[in-house]
Amino acid sequence: MRGLSEKIAGIVPSATIEISNAAKRMAQEGIDVISLSIGEPDFDTPGHIRDACIDALRRGETHYAPSSGIPELKEAIAAKVARENGFAAAPEEVIVTCGAKDAIYEAMEAVLNPADEVIVLDPSWVSYEPCVRIAGGEVRHHPLDGETFQIDDSVLEAVTTRTRMIVVNSPSNPSGGVLSRESLRLVADICRDHDIIALSDEIYEKLVYGAEHVSLASIDGMADRTITVNGFSKAYAMTGWRIGYAVAPQRIVRQMEKVQQHTVSHPTTFAMYGAVAALSGDQGCVEQMRSEFERRRDYIVGALRDLGYATAPADGAFYAYVRVDGDDIEIARRWLREVHVAVTPGTAFHTPGWLRISYATSMEHLREAMDRIGRV
Ligand code: PMP
Ligand code: GLU
Repeated sequence: MRGLSEKIAGIVPSATIEISNAAKRMAQEGIDVISLSIGEPDFDTPGHIRDACIDALRRGETHYAPSSGIPELKEAIAAKVARENGFAAAPEEVIVTCGAKDAIYEAMEAVLNPADEVIVLDPSWVSYEPCVRIAGGEVRHHPLDGETFQIDDSVLEAVTTRTRMIVVNSPSNPSGGVLSRESLRLVADICRDHDIIALSDEIYEKLVYGAEHVSLASIDGMADRTITVNGFSKAYAMTGWRIGYAVAPQRIVRQMEKVQQHTVSHPTTFAMYGAVAALSGDQGCVEQMRSEFERRRDYIVGALRDLGYATAPADGAFYAYVRVDGDDIEIARRWLREVHVAVTPGTAFHTPGWLRISYATSMEHLREAMDRIGRV
């Protein structure tokens, strides 16, 4: 039999998903495993959002929708961006996608030509590099500052004549760091000077703890060359709904829409009505979840420090990024084997020597996990 795609064979599975699958298998076998491996809110989607989706189903919103998303949702997203993110966008500059992940992938397909380079700043989320490579581009990794997790002048060293895109992610998965306005200005300067497009993944924008979230597209001249990616999974606890979006110049959105038309067609029609309710309804639910995450953040960072672990600045998202002595993959395996606590090794984020602990789980689980970690 002939071989399968070498391009896909060369891509590693998603570590975040694989480890969480392994933890689920252990739980099915009756092992009392605590999974701090996946980044998924433990809350259910707020009731008014679920009701709006159920109403849509009852009304018969079960047909194909426009391929870039229902007009109501695109208008709500354009209005949200103007209201909250400090830049203007028309509904034609919005595309609704099957989760933020799909927006990232479609953006890569829309922009990259073979051998184009994409700068990815490490530690970086597990799916950026695979999305670039599936789309035929090449990744150039560059480290963020190891103490502050900010961007410094050294990023210029990663720019070549083939650089087409830079990916920024703030608040960051996995570090929990929030990029300062100065860091984003540096990115903006480089993009303008070298004609580079930025992909700004802002899916954790609502989950900040004292830090200010700044949208890259709000910086002078950047709306024209930024693809802002966002979604409903984290802020509204809607991971299973698979609704995300991108806001970008129309020439890029048009290219993304072609990818969408020929692959997934569009996100699920009735789910998009839930997303409209999320944006237009009372935002109290977002603040409630954010403040609970903050409480957990305060607890876990303190508990880790008490155990002698240093963490990256945990100013946003719901991850504590923990420095470890030794082989992170081995340590993660040992924690899982010996005390049944699942975490993700930093190697998966291109930074060996760290572990990512997701605190999107109950206080009770976090306390128990910290007790167990204290024992190994
Ligand atoms: N970007 C980052 C940084 C993430 O952590 C995630 C989590 N899955 C995504 C994008 C994709 O989110 P979604 O569920 O909307 O596809
Ligand atoms: N983004 C989350 C994580 O990093 C969910 C899993 C995934 O899509 O990677 O754990």
